[in-house]
Amino acid sequence: MRSADQHGISAEQVGILEREWHLWPQLAAPERDRIQRLIGLFLATMGWEGAQGFEVTEEMRVLVAAQACLLLLGLEIDEYPATDSVIVHPGTVRLRGEHHLGGGLRSSGVMAVDGQAHYRGPVLLSWSAVRAEMNAPERGRNVVFHEFAHQLDMIDGSVDGTPPFDDDADRRRWMEVCTTAFEAPPEVLRDYAFTNPAEFFSVATETFFCQPVQLKEAEPVLYGEFVQYYGQDPAARAQPREQPRE
Ligand SMILES: [Zn+2]
Repeated sequence: MRSADQHGISAEQVGILEREWHLWPQLAAPERDRIQRLIGLFLATMGWEGAQGFEVTEEMRVLVAAQACLLLLGLEIDEYPATDSVIVHPGTVRLRGEHHLGGGLRSSGVMAVDGQAHYRGPVLLSWSAVRAEMNAPERGRNVVFHEFAHQLDMIDGSVDGTPPFDDDADRRRWMEVCTTAFEAPPEVLRDYAFTNPAEFFSVATETFFCQPVQLKEAEPVLYGEFVQYYGQDPAARAQPREQPRE
């Protein structure tokens, strides 16, 4: 896999993050340094396409890349090997054909979604959903985090809610904690998490990055597993801003 070491972004691109992304001020200096390299590699290697003639602007690319790369910040990988392009739709993505709904159910016809991740294929995103969610963590939803969590899950070729782990004991503990939470649905996760283990991982990832303090309070063991896997602690980052000043 390629390394982000030789990459970076321009002062103009940093300016977009400073102006447009609420998480930017929360990142510590070393985190900013790493995420800029990750974004630089992401922008240099991913293909971008606007659906139905939609114009994908520099700002859109930088903001999607930043959110996708936040997931990689504490991981030992610098890119998403199971995808190489992003297709940006202006609004809801309308999928045609046969769909798997989970639990063995299928439907045919048009299905409307905010995003979709393909194994060794593109990530589809609705720009209106990206825009509405990126600075509204109180919604607990983020389509970029969701779809790129699927891409992490897909690295080992199976979409089962368990991304690759170097250590077998870590993987077993992860599966145990996630299975327990899957079987006794915590309220802090929205219902869609319980569609199947793959959706559980993606929805829990959204909550982990959007509402880390709430997730940590409600489900400390699950939160701890996500801290271990992602190699970062978003609640610690968010906390100082939530504490009242003396
Ligand atoms: Zn999903």
